[in-house]
Amino acid sequence: MQADVKAAMRNHSDFIDQSLLTTILPGVQVAADHRLGDVNQGRPGPTVVLSGGMHGNEPAGVRAICRILATLRQDDVPVAGRLLGLCGNVGALRLGVRYTDRDLNRHWDAPSVAQLRATHGHTAEDVEQLELLHAFDEAVAQARGPVVHLDLHSMSADGVPFIVVCDHPQSVALARQLCLPGIAGLEKAIPATTIEYFTALGHIALAVEGGQHQSPSTEDTLESVAWLLLASVGAIAWSAVPDLAGRRERLRARGLDLPAVKVTYRHGISPNDHFRMRPGYRNLQPVHAGEVLAEDDHGPVRAPADGWILLPLYQPVGTDGFFIGSPVAHA
Ligand SMILES: [Zn+2]
Repeated sequence: MQADVKAAMRNHSDFIDQSLLTTILPGVQVAADHRLGDVNQGRPGPTVVLSGGMHGNEPAGVRAICRILATLRQDDVPVAGRLLGLCGNVGALRLGVRYTDRDLNRHWDAPSVAQLRATHGHTAEDVEQLELLHAFDEAVAQARGPVVHLDLHSMSADGVPFIVVCDHPQSVALARQLCLPGIAGLEKAIPATTIEYFTALGHIALAVEGGQHQSPSTEDTLESVAWLLLASVGAIAWSAVPDLAGRRERLRARGLDLPAVKVTYRHGISPNDHFRMRPGYRNLQPVHAGEVLAEDDHGPVRAPADGWILLPLYQPVGTDGFFIGSPVAHA
């Protein structure tokens, strides 16, 4: 495998200029095709595509992927199938901003992708998306087994980490192995993400929100979820997961052992609203009908129903003010 990793990093000239990246992500090398690492030992098995930093202010996912690749290399871990680690919005990561021209994780529906392929687009994120599409398509075309995608994210607000689950039985089953609460319905509330792209192609796809961007536990949460996923799909043996019991224990504690939650409401915003979330809300915090959650130019913004708040917006950029979810019992 060392040879594989070295092959993935075979030539320094392949790497994007990383003078700015290294100030955000010390030691992280990103190949011109977004690869952080590409492990293929010639054994049959799944193709696992891990991506981090789809939002440039979320470097924890990139670091988590790099830690996994480094551990696989150092411990000489046998890997079945292929593990491809990808860096998302390289340009925005350099700048430490969520995106440069548009959200890179919002144009992965079939019509948008077809248009982008035909026109090649014109924004900074169009270029990033075309490069990622090339990497995704190559991984899918080369796959000799199931394709599994995990997209690693972090949040502006503090709160409970969770898994974004697609309406796909295999995705739901896989999410249950990952020791965090699963949120169903976000892929409809936040359409056209990378997990929608993979799911539409018939593959298994999940996203994980690992915690607040700068929280020290976020990188550990993202790394732990990715380790559990790798073992769950048979890419590595369970015994190869470093500190398996500790990782499961920490994930369950951070996820508060919460059940699955289904999204029932999205509060969309536009810049003209001057939306201001009230301070102190945490992800997956219970809220009650009528509770004032935020203010905008029209007055107070109230919770439409009892439920749990998801992704309260505490950053200046975005079109999703918050979501409300209701606990659902999984069959
Ligand atoms: Zn994100």
